[in-house]
Amino acid sequence: MLFMSGAAPVRMLPNRVRLEASSFCQLRCPSCPTTTGAIGAAVGGGFLRIEDFRKFVDANPFVRQIEISNYGEIFLNPQLVSILEYAHRKNVAITIENGVNLNHVKEEQIEALVKYQVRIVTCSIDGASPETYRVYRVRGDFDVVMENIGKINACKARYGSQLPRLVWQFVIFGHNEHELPLARQMAARLGMEFRPKLTWDDKFSPIRDKAFVRAQIAQRAVTREEFEREHGEKYASGICHQLWRDPQINWDGRILGCCRNFWGDFGGNAFTDGAAESLNNEKMVYARGMLTGQNPPRDDIPCTTCELYEGMRTRSRFIAPREVKREPADAAARTGVFRPEVQTRIAEVDTELAAIAAMPRAQSQRRVQSLKDSMAAPLRLPRAERNATPPSPAVSIVLPTYNRAGFLGEAIASVQAQSFADWELLVVDDGSSDGTGALAANYRADPRIRFVAQRHTGHAAARNLGLRLARGALIAYLDSDNLWFPHFLAAAVPLLHATPAADCVYGAMASDLHPQWPHGIVFDRFDRARLLRENFIDLNTLVHRRSLIETHGGFDERLDRLVDWDLVLRLTRDKPALRIPVLAVQYRAVDGQRVSAGRSLQRNRAAIRRKWAAPLLRPVDVPLLSRLMRRISRQS
Ligand code: SF4
Repeated sequence: MLFMSGAAPVRMLPNRVRLEASSFCQLRCPSCPTTTGAIGAAVGGGFLRIEDFRKFVDANPFVRQIEISNYGEIFLNPQLVSILEYAHRKNVAITIENGVNLNHVKEEQIEALVKYQVRIVTCSIDGASPETYRVYRVRGDFDVVMENIGKINACKARYGSQLPRLVWQFVIFGHNEHELPLARQMAARLGMEFRPKLTWDDKFSPIRDKAFVRAQIAQRAVTREEFEREHGEKYASGICHQLWRDPQINWDGRILGCCRNFWGDFGGNAFTDGAAESLNNEKMVYARGMLTGQNPPRDDIPCTTCELYEGMRTRSRFIAPREVKREPADAAARTGVFRPEVQTRIAEVDTELAAIAAMPRAQSQRRVQSLKDSMAAPLRLPRAERNATPPSPAVSIVLPTYNRAGFLGEAIASVQAQSFADWELLVVDDGSSDGTGALAANYRADPRIRFVAQRHTGHAAARNLGLRLARGALIAYLDSDNLWFPHFLAAAVPLLHATPAADCVYGAMASDLHPQWPHGIVFDRFDRARLLRENFIDLNTLVHRRSLIETHGGFDERLDRLVDWDLVLRLTRDKPALRIPVLAVQYRAVDGQRVSAGRSLQRNRAAIRRKWAAPLLRPVDVPLLSRLMRRISRQS
């Protein structure tokens, strides 16, 4: 997102927008405003047309990601395949995350989802049996939905594609709560992420056994009212951030601001006025002022009658500008975006590392140990970050393993020893033959740990499987031969969650096996140009938003080495990663089976060079270039 500030109001050019592909739906879900006809006034009935989509994409090259689902069913749009194809051709990522019912899907549409690499599809399936499903999804057929999911999975297998990621969204009601465990199991079997959701309408089939549901979804609030009491804000109030981050545009180009608004538009049209103009029109700018508490409500602004805004006014608790503000990438790289306390600590560590590097090795050992001790201790977090964590599980840890039964337990123990406890660990056994699978029994008592197995297809595929199963908003990685330091996640998760400007953070690595870092601590500042030449960010030190995988894809399974370098290059393509001044991982070489062993470094390096060809050319020799330019100008 680019902010243009100055004397004029801040304007935004969001790189992600929402553009509904169809507002028609064939189902009649009782609480949905599409069923009641309430969307008629502002949304109306219609399909996004391929001509409008093409023009929109071509005219707004800063838009890199488009969410196309909202109130209707996108598969009813007869031009959907062309829309997906054009987005793919123009390198615009498509997400279908608000939801589809998947009751009527053509074969060519299924193929297009996979072929054109739609990043994610959320399927609304509120039940685990036909009888339960049709109570809310009126006119829907559970068996057809299951069949269509099977077809998508079969197509993904045919293409060897991990996209689209599939999400099973389960709105919890009294009539379906008993099927939560079964639905979760079925989702896991289908390779789908499972996301329970609270209903907007507490009156339709209210939850009966709250204690059971609480245990099932691992949160105390099981109605929106309870959520509000517990958290001091409305459920899903993050929707309002869409006005800044990813505004909603109607199928006909009108500006709706957010995906919740169906009762009035903000004026302007993105197809005729351009996205920059319409998304920054007077009403949008005024509404942003209202939501940040700077402007009073106004009758012609849709937010004025919205319950989420009313909740903010009642509590006098508005959106803090820092929650929606993002620095331009280069500024973030230059100044960092953490609070001064954290920046100061980073500077201290850098100073100490520089001092150590200048000392003879024999004299530096005590200083190195003391620095390691201080970096392994809990990081003192600024007050605002101390309690900032995403919904549970806050972070999903992906741990691939292959024939490391003797060491895996130590790696898992280092996760269990984390002082930050709200994680899930996905241990992906890549077809081990040394009894690794039997170890799962040792961890049955810890519900945060899941063992999954695949036939031996390589660590990139194993990590991708872990990514597909991950439920956390944040992702971290650990290799089976390495060990995390205990306070790594306690620093990384709150800092990343509380810093909307960042998508990716990395800590320090302790290693005596990398001669280029003779003091044994790898903690180099982010430098994209250098990253294009060599990797200095170990995957085991990285925590990033899961949305980056949806945008950039997962591990490249065509490579058998350096996949981590390739992934880090992609995750940081648009925005730098930020350093956190803590020790993340102890890098070890426990046997001869490291991924790097026995695989061609040259071949994989060449493959990465091809992918990132231009930036990997030798850096420009600036003095030589200046001399040449001077000579040319003298001759002309
Ligand atoms: S207040 Fe309501 S209408 Fe306005 S942005 Fe938030 S959810 Fe949308």
